[in-house]
Amino acid sequence: NINDIVKSAVLKLEVSAKNKRQHFVHTSYDDEIYVFADKDKMEQVLLNILSNAIKYTAEEGKIEVQVQLKSSYVQIIIRDNGIGIPKEDLPRIFERFYRVDKARSREMGGTGLGLSIAKQIIEAHKGAIEIFSEEKKQGTRVVITLPTTNEGLALN
Ligand code: ATP
Ligand code: MG
Repeated sequence: NINDIVKSAVLKLEVSAKNKRQHFVHTSYDDEIYVFADKDKMEQVLLNILSNAIKYTAEEGKIEVQVQLKSSYVQIIIRDNGIGIPKEDLPRIFERFYRVDKARSREMGGTGLGLSIAKQIIEAHKGAIEIFSEEKKQGTRVVITLPTTNEGLALN
């Protein structure tokens, strides 16, 4: 159930968001949305994306997580109103070790692997991950699309 995975990731990062007095909003209109997935890897993807949203958004900022069920797929949308990503950097953002250059990345720490790992995992699940962003405008929006299955099938 993708909602459980999202909830678990949100719960793990709630304290970090609270420490920056950020508003963390999680919404889903359906209780059960099943995806055939490696649960731990999928949670890792969400932790990577959510920790970016927290890290690259100022104090008092807003982070929204929305799970939307479509006909045969589900979309997880993570939106922040943070510093955004310059247009020229967007095409390279999923490359290993790529970080938007500027003093900002250096002082915030990190290796530049989070997004490349996320993309690798999502694609191994036959899904897609896209990032929309404009620097100094509406922040960043990450959209994860995954195919759904009809019912839950627990393997672990
Ligand atoms: P790591 O995740 O390995 O700790 P990282 O966060 O720098 O390090 P990625 O998660 O791969 O690496 O992100 C790559 C770069 O994309 C970041 O350095 C940052 O410049 C930019 N970025 C990612 N997410 C956001 C976001 N939500 N808002 C603004 N910039 C972002
Ligand atoms: Mg990261």
